[in-house]
Order: sequence, then C-alpha cells, then structure tokens
Amino acid sequence: MQTIRRETDVPVRNKCDVLVIGAGPAGVGAAISAARSGARVTLVEYGGKLGGLWTLGLLCPLFDNRFHEGLNKEFREKLEERNAWGGLWKISFDPTQMAMLLDEYALAHNLDVMLYTMACDPILEDGVIKGVIVQNKSGAQAVMAKVVIDCSGDGDIAARAGAPFEVGRPDDGVYQPMTMMFRIGGLCEEYSEDDIISWYRAIEAAVADKEKLLADIPFNHPALIRLPRRGEALIQWTHIHKRFGADGDDHSCATFEGRAQIRKAMEYFKLIKDTVGEVYLLELPSVIGVRETRRITGEYIISDEDVKNGVKFPDNICNVRFGVDIHEPDKPRQTCWQHPGFDIPFRSLVPLKVNNLLTAGRCISGSYVAHAAYRVTGDCLAMGEGAGAAAAEAISRNIGVRELAKIRMSRVISTCEKAGN
Ligand SMILES: Cc1cc2nc3c(=O)[nH]c(=O)nc-3n(C[C@H](O)[C@H](O)[C@H](O)COP(=O)(O)OP(=O)(O)OC[C@H]3O[C@@H](n4cnc5c(N)ncnc54)[C@H](O)[C@@H]3O)c2cc1C
Repeated sequence: MQTIRRETDVPVRNKCDVLVIGAGPAGVGAAISAARSGARVTLVEYGGKLGGLWTLGLLCPLFDNRFHEGLNKEFREKLEERNAWGGLWKISFDPTQMAMLLDEYALAHNLDVMLYTMACDPILEDGVIKGVIVQNKSGAQAVMAKVVIDCSGDGDIAARAGAPFEVGRPDDGVYQPMTMMFRIGGLCEEYSEDDIISWYRAIEAAVADKEKLLADIPFNHPALIRLPRRGEALIQWTHIHKRFGADGDDHSCATFEGRAQIRKAMEYFKLIKDTVGEVYLLELPSVIGVRETRRITGEYIISDEDVKNGVKFPDNICNVRFGVDIHEPDKPRQTCWQHPGFDIPFRSLVPLKVNNLLTAGRCISGSYVAHAAYRVTGDCLAMGEGAGAAAAEAISRNIGVRELAKIRMSRVISTCEKAGN
C-alpha cells in the first residue's frame, strides 16, 4: 500500500487519571467504577450516545444481569422505576431510556465525556502507554492518562500499541457474523411476550422458496425481542458474514448490507400479518452489531477447558453464566451449549507487552469459545467495573496494573500457604 508521512504537533487537551476508550457496557462500567474509586476519568466515545451496542446498536436483553450485583443491579432497578425494564424474559429494556439513564450517571459521576470522538493512536514511552491521540471536530488532540482502559470492543488502542491479539476460530481464523438490529412497532397484543421464534416459522410456512429466504437473509434462528412498551420489539435476524468489524471498509459495506437485509425483512413481515399484526419499521440502529473482532492476549488466556470445567480463579472479577453462543461464521445457524459457570481472572484484562493498559468487554483475552460466552453485556459491564476499580487502585498505590495483577495473585498464594493448602 502506498503511504505518506505525517508529522504534526498535537495539542494536549487534558491529563486525567484513567482514560476509558469506548462507552459500551464495559466502558461505562469502567468509567463509573474508576470515578467511584476517586479517579479523574475521561471517557472517549465515537458515537453520540453512551451505551455502545445497548443504545447505538439497539440491543437487549441484558444477559447475565441477574447474576451480578453492582451496576447490573443498579441499572435494572433504575430502569424498572421508569417502566423501561421487562419485555422478553423480563430482562429486556428500552434502549432510549438506557441512553437517558447513562447520561445521568455520567453527570452524577463527573465524568469528562468526549462524544463524537475517535481514539486513534496510543502515545507510548518505553512500552508504557502515556495517553491517546483522539480526533474529533476540533481536530487531533492528546489525552494523557496514568492508566488507559481499552473498552472499544475491537481493542483498537491495545492492538495499535503493539499488544498481541487473536482473531476468529483457531483452525481457520474466521469469526462470527455481524447483525444489524431493528425496532418494529405495531406488533399485535396477542403475540406472546416470550415467544422469540414462531413469527419466523410462520414466514417459513408462508414462502414457497426456502432457499430464496435464506439467500435474502442468511440466518434461520432469528429472534423477536419484546420490549417493555407494548407493540414494540427488536428483531435480530440479519446476518452479514465474512466482513471484519475492525476493518473500515468492511465495516461500512456490512452496514449497507445490513440495511438491505432489513428492507427484505420488512417485506417478509407483510406475509405474516395474521401472526404479528401490521408491523412497521420504527427505528434503525446508529451502528451495526459486531460480534467478534480482536481478542487482546493478556497475562492469562481463558481456555476452552476453563469454560467446560467451570474454572474458578482467585483473582476473579466476573463469573460468567451465559452459555456459549456461536453464530456460525459460515452457516446460517447458531451453536449453543451450557457450561457450569466460569471465572474471568483480572490477569486476562492485562495485555502483554504494553504497560499501564487494561482491556474490558468483548476484546479481553480468551479463546474463540470463551469469548462466545463472556461477550454478553451483563458480563462486559461487570468486567468494566472490575477494570475501573483496579485502575484506580493501581494509581492510588503508585504501581502499574501488571504489578497489581501480580500482587493480587501473590496475596492469594500467601493466604493459601498460611492456611496450609
Ligand atoms: C447482533 C448482536 C446481538 C447481541 N445480543 C445480545 C443480547 O441480546 N444480550 C447481550 O447481553 N449481549 C448481546 N450481544 C453481545 C454484546 O452486545 C456485545 O458483546 C457487547 O456490547 C460488548 O460490549 P463492549 O462494551 O465490549 O463493546 P460495545 O458494546 O461494542 O461498545 C464499544 C464502544 O466503543 C466505541 N468505540 C469503538 N472503537 C472506538 C474508538 N476507536 N474510539 C472511540 N470509541 C470507540 C463504540 O462506539 C461503542 O460505543 C449481541 C451482540 C451482537 C452483535
């Protein structure tokens, strides 16, 4: 590829304690928990709302929510008070109300939020991350920080800082497809709250040409997710295969493909008026849903065996209960299976090779299979909380986050030794 050289001075916008990249479930968890632990936090988000896929991507239910205390419980209770919680399996929420709630949390915790801002390049000194160059309508600026937490989903900053990473299935490197969600209105009262699939079976029964159905929208186990407000649902149906969410051109093309599939979906809904009512397209998301890109390799990689055996770790920050859920990279179906529940150790949030950097959310260090379970939003939120608190602790003790990880482990080992285990 042809390149050009660019060297410019960049103004320093601010210096903070903890810089969080991305305001999805992991990022809001990290920012709020770091602020609650006394850190000055800057939160950089390239969309115009907080919440990541919850709000920009129109995505719920909030899986694994009920297994965690902390912000999972707080958000659920606040949304319940606003009649914005319920719907499918009583764990779904209104994305608009979630966006409003997260704004209130940002204000209440004095977060320095930069919306419409892309985190572009890490600022490194001798393998230590010192800040990040961000870009927005003001141009390029530097945000300096004692600890950076990459919650971008794609591990953009960690990868550019030189942290190693893995992508996709171990044998061929392919990854789960993207999905563009959409919100429908006009769903008939009789459609049952927890019935995710019978509308699709009705479409299958109504169309003569099943191959065309799958060619138009290549997924045969879609979901209708009833929202708390009657008559509204999110539809998870479109599938865009073999486009990489961390590649700019692929990401853009997939977005067009997603909306093209939604156009076809709305035509299919007309065939099943008797089952669902005269539904209409109420809202498109601001972003396409990306399931899987980089998994940043950390001090520990959560393995397939860990998942199968329900491993417990002494430096656990989040116990994952949600089952493995793989939207197959090259088939129109899903593979799901349960496990006993496994821990995420703090070490899997500490990337190799770069110091004072953490990850949280779907880009942490785990296998293809482990990722397919811990990627759900209740776990990403809990991981973010763990990362934010750890960043603040490292700063207050004047040590690096890798050293903190070692101290956490050695503390556990010495306690075990004292106990004679
Ligand atoms: C179609 C689909 C359906 C799903 N269904 C469910 C479900 O029903 N329930 C569930 O719990 N989970 C579900 N998941 C999984 C879940 O939504 C994601 O794995 C989860 O949102 C990941 O959280 P995160 O905080 O790591 O990333 P994200 O939610 O992706 O948030 C990342 C944030 O970072 C921002 N960002 C990215 N790069 C940059 C950058 N360089 N600079 C600045 N900002 C940046 C993005 O704008 C975004 O706001 C689904 C996923 C998909 C794709």
